[in-house]
Amino acid sequence: MQLKPGWNFHNSYATLPPIFYTQLNPTPVAFPKLVVFNESLAEELNLNSDALQTEEGVATFSGNKIPEGAEPLAQAYAGHQFGYFTMLGDGRAILLGEHVNTQNQRFDIQLKGSGRTPYSRGGDGRAALGPMLREYIISEAMHALGIPTTRSLAVITTGETVIREQLLPGAILTRVASSHIRVGTFEFARKFGSKEDLQALCDYTIERHYPHLAKEKNPYLQLLKEVIEKQAALIAKWQLVGFVHGVMNTDNMTVSGETIDYGPCAFMDLYHPETVFSSIDTYGRYAYGNQPKIGGWNLARFAEALIPLLDENKEKAVRLAKEAIETYPDLYVFYYLDGMRKKLGLLNEEADDEALIQDLLQLMETYKQDYTNTFRALTLQKFEEPFFQTPEFQDWYQRYQARLKRQNSIDIMQMMKQHNPSVIPRNHRVEEAIEAAVERGDFTVMKKLLSIITNPYAYSAEQEEYCTLPEYPDEPYITYCGT
Ligand code: AMP
Ligand code: MG
Repeated sequence: MQLKPGWNFHNSYATLPPIFYTQLNPTPVAFPKLVVFNESLAEELNLNSDALQTEEGVATFSGNKIPEGAEPLAQAYAGHQFGYFTMLGDGRAILLGEHVNTQNQRFDIQLKGSGRTPYSRGGDGRAALGPMLREYIISEAMHALGIPTTRSLAVITTGETVIREQLLPGAILTRVASSHIRVGTFEFARKFGSKEDLQALCDYTIERHYPHLAKEKNPYLQLLKEVIEKQAALIAKWQLVGFVHGVMNTDNMTVSGETIDYGPCAFMDLYHPETVFSSIDTYGRYAYGNQPKIGGWNLARFAEALIPLLDENKEKAVRLAKEAIETYPDLYVFYYLDGMRKKLGLLNEEADDEALIQDLLQLMETYKQDYTNTFRALTLQKFEEPFFQTPEFQDWYQRYQARLKRQNSIDIMQMMKQHNPSVIPRNHRVEEAIEAAVERGDFTVMKKLLSIITNPYAYSAEQEEYCTLPEYPDEPYITYCGT
């Protein structure tokens, strides 16, 4: 008997006004081969892993076969890229549809690298294997760290080459998301659609992500407020683990609050707020320390797009938008401090906590200390680095100990272990895994890395070797957008 993969497609996005998408199929590829598959995610989706890994199943991941019930489409959106407004859209991705699992959870199933679309502009619609493996690794690491994110179900190689600066093996990533609705989708509606189109998008978003808002007196204002809070919480989580997204354009910001589009992203080793990895981010617009501020900038673009729906009276609408945006900095600080207190084992709040945190970060910066490992050392109370013997750190540590004594419980190691990852996907490890796969067809390095980083709070013995820094941690690490 033939195994059934268990797809349960619905296509609610196609009920939006037609300007929001173009229906078309992925472009078939020559020789699809499954190279990475996420069994645990398949399970969460109630899909049959065995069926998905048959030739027939894999044909779905390559776009060579449209699964039953799917109605593929490319989504239209716009966005501010490095501050400039542009029309974009899925230039190399196709949404197969929304898979609904037995708990009635709805997931976008998207093929990334699936061929040209009307939104491809000059691009080839394809993706190279390296960047798709990178997205797989980092998104799964983020999920394991407890950070809302799109997920990765599978990567296939296409048997075709893509032309970048050189010829590279082509690949397609199957991306799973609670949706792909972006701030840029609203900017698109505001700029190119009617007020009815904009309203349809808002109603759809509320129904899909914020159904409790439907009965509000001003649901669109509430939508704005909730998205602001979701993003404040999300970006705080990035900061807390040292994640640098790298391209926080408004088209790469979801309204669901999931991290999306892993291009030139990377985790910071040595703490420095100016840390930038992306080769094209010359001015550090999206540097680690700028991410919270840029989040606010992007949300202001979201607020602008919603203005026609916030109030009949334009002036009042602008005022409401402004007031909502002004809540963002405090919300961000709230989530950040809450997370930092947990990282330090602080169970209550004291006015000086912010200074205590800032001073520790400043010391890490001055002494070029690793962000993750410093918190790891504090968690384990294992102070091996010479940094920990410096008078400045000793001073700080006395303040910290005094602070801990003023709270009820001092048994904080368990809590700290849950908030300070023992391992992150360090850049040299990610590179090593991608290189083995792309250059030698060896996926074992990546699988081992995944097994380590998808359990980041385990503090297991086998993780130790993944905690070490690259040989020259001071050398700039550069990531490329040519994804
Ligand atoms: P990203 O940098 O991945 O967020 O992509 C920004 C925009 O460029 C999106 O509209 C993508 O669909 C589009 N894009 C990126 N790479 C390609 C490509 N190879 N072919 C066509 N469109 C692309
Ligand atoms: Mg993007």
